[in-house]
Amino acid sequence: MIILLLGAPGSGKGTQAKQLVEELKIPQLSTGDMLRSAVKAGTPLGKEAESYMKKGALVPDSLVLGLITERIQKEDCKSGFILDGFPRNRSQADALGAIFTKFGKKLDCVIAMEVAQNELVERLCGRRTCQNCGQGFHVKFQPPKTEGVCDKCSGKLTQRPDDNEKVILDRLKVYQADTSPLLEYYKSKGLVKEIEAGKGSPQDIFKKILAVIK
Ligand code: AMP
Repeated sequence: MIILLLGAPGSGKGTQAKQLVEELKIPQLSTGDMLRSAVKAGTPLGKEAESYMKKGALVPDSLVLGLITERIQKEDCKSGFILDGFPRNRSQADALGAIFTKFGKKLDCVIAMEVAQNELVERLCGRRTCQNCGQGFHVKFQPPKTEGVCDKCSGKLTQRPDDNEKVILDRLKVYQADTSPLLEYYKSKGLVKEIEAGKGSPQDIFKKILAVIK
């Protein structure tokens, strides 16, 4: 099954993708994670992407299309995968369609995760991630037992450099302008399942997602 999670930054795509990975035994393909790894590793692609990411802008399509094209050909993507954070604009969506045609794949469903804008800012500002195991926390909604320390592995919790208020507002503007039109694009293909993702626990939202994909 190939699932696309569509939603603004902070709408919970990453959290839900991780639960879907467990449930469906298919991998999460997050272009944001791939780009952050490339930045951390200091690869030429990472160096090129970093300046865009710091500003909250989209990195050039050619970079993410290269990453996705390579990734979907891997063995673990044979039974499907979860797209998280890709496509982010119309040209990426068109390119994805062409890539799927080339490799004989088909998008099964688009889960549109809806959260009010003021809620998104609060979610993103308080988000913390374990730099060791990647577990996510939130200073208000899901605080760790000890401040700054991961409950799972005692690793140090860090804040993403682009999770500061100025960059968050820029990322949300980019979402509105470039990514949100994809909702209509995929609706016209009859693929969209809309989920109210602003209320309830991550577990409640996961149940709603399972109900629509099963
Ligand atoms: P995310 O982790 O999905 O919030 O992405 C973090 C940042 O990575 C974004 O603000 C963009 O700079 C970049 N990025 C991630 N995915 C894409 C994409 N599909 N196209 C362009 N830039 C992306």
